[in-house]
This record gives sequence, structure tokens and C-alpha cells, in this order.
Amino acid sequence: MQPHETLGDDDIQGRLREVHDRIRAAAERAQRPPGSVALLAVSKTHGAEAVRAAYAAGHRAFGESYVQEAIEKIALLGDLPDIQWHFIGRIQANKTRQIAAHFDWVHGLSDPAHARRLSEQRPTDLAPLKVCIQVNVSGEITKGGVEPDAVPAMIAACEALPGLEVCGLMTLPAPAEDEDAQRTPFRALRLLRDRLATPSRPLACLSMGMSDDLEAAILEGATLVRVGTAVFGPRPYNVG
Ligand SMILES: *Cc1c(COP(=O)(O)O)cnc(C)c1O
Repeated sequence: MQPHETLGDDDIQGRLREVHDRIRAAAERAQRPPGSVALLAVSKTHGAEAVRAAYAAGHRAFGESYVQEAIEKIALLGDLPDIQWHFIGRIQANKTRQIAAHFDWVHGLSDPAHARRLSEQRPTDLAPLKVCIQVNVSGEITKGGVEPDAVPAMIAACEALPGLEVCGLMTLPAPAEDEDAQRTPFRALRLLRDRLATPSRPLACLSMGMSDDLEAAILEGATLVRVGTAVFGPRPYNVG
């Protein structure tokens, strides 16, 4: 393994620009407006200084996977107005209170019991927690997602909860070799969304695509790509 080096502010600014260029180019190929794809900068395992550098470059939305690490970072960065925190990790029942108190979004919700806890524990002075339902479309890394057939019931369960706002669907496919193969699960998620969307429940957010497959995700309709390595460099460690 390469020794890890923390990237400097200029590096992070330059890498953010490159990622925005990739997003713009992919949106153009897909004949989609460049502003239709949001970038979530995944800062898990990187320090608060890295987040501060991205913030100074104009970035506002950050993704974290480990609750304890995230809570410490969020506290260190409490002086930054309009910063947005997205929980993208595996949810554990004993961590839902902290997630509900400190995050704006949760991607990867797949358990109705977790949904109920997050809603009950959402502080009433905060807006409802925005959630994306994680779907197990095909070849997933984790068994975490809801099976496609069970998604309507999961959405209905979440919609009944006052502390949650259902914003869309998320998926985390296994890495694939080429763009065509990468597109298959992303297309499946979009088609599922298109079938389940209604005027009153647009499921507008399609949270899909990471550093290595964001182009494929954008070609299939991603509205939010979750990008870590391409923004912050390789992760110094991998927990859980
Ligand atoms: C870590 C992580 C990412 C970012 O992965 P990169 O390959 O570093 O871009 C995206 N989504 C989820 C759910 C993650 O856990």
C-alpha cells in the first residue's frame, strides 16, 4: 500500500474542478442540463481540514459513513454556515439517534425499523430528515438494499413517518469492468424509479455513481453522485 498523504487545499480545489468537469462532460453526453447532477463529496476517513478546504473552494455537501468519526468532524466544522451532511454508511440501530440529530440526509435506508427510529428521534426543531431508499437492484456489494418488489411498501412505510421526507432511491453496485456493465444496475434503478414515481411523490433523487462509475450513473439519470477518492485522494484507512 502507498503511504497516505493528506492533500493540500490547492490539490482538493483542483480535484473538485476535475470532478465537476467529468460531471459536466457526462451530462453533456446524456443531453442533460449540467446543473441536474449534484456532487456529494464523500469525506469519510479524511480529516476536518480536508472538508474545510473543499468548503473554501465553494463545496457544501459532504458524505460520511462512520457515525463517531462524523460527529467529531461535524463538531469541528460547526462554524461553517450552510454545510450539509449526508449519512451514507450502514445504519446500526444503536446509532440512529446520533444520525437523526446531526445529519440532513440519509442515503441507504433499507430497514423499516431504522426508519421508525430515525423519524421518532429526529429533533422537532429540524426539518424532516431527507432519505433515499437503498435498492438491491443487481450484483450489489452489500446485502443492505431493499429488493425491488419490496420498495413500494418501504416507501409507503417511510411516507407515514413525520420525521422523514422520502426523496428518492439509492444503489451501491459491485464494481464492473466497462461502462456498459456499469450502466446495467443504474438503469434498473432509474426504471424502477420511473415506475414508482407519481406527481405527488416524484422520487426525484437518484443517488448513484462513485469515483469509478459516475459517468455511467449520469448517463442513466443519476441526480446525485457520491464521490470520495476522486475529490480527496485515496482513503488512509478502511473501517467496517
Ligand atoms: C465510500 C463511498 C462512496 C465513495 O466512494 P469512492 O469510490 O471513493 O468515490 C460512495 N458511496 C458510498 C455508499 C460509500 O460508502
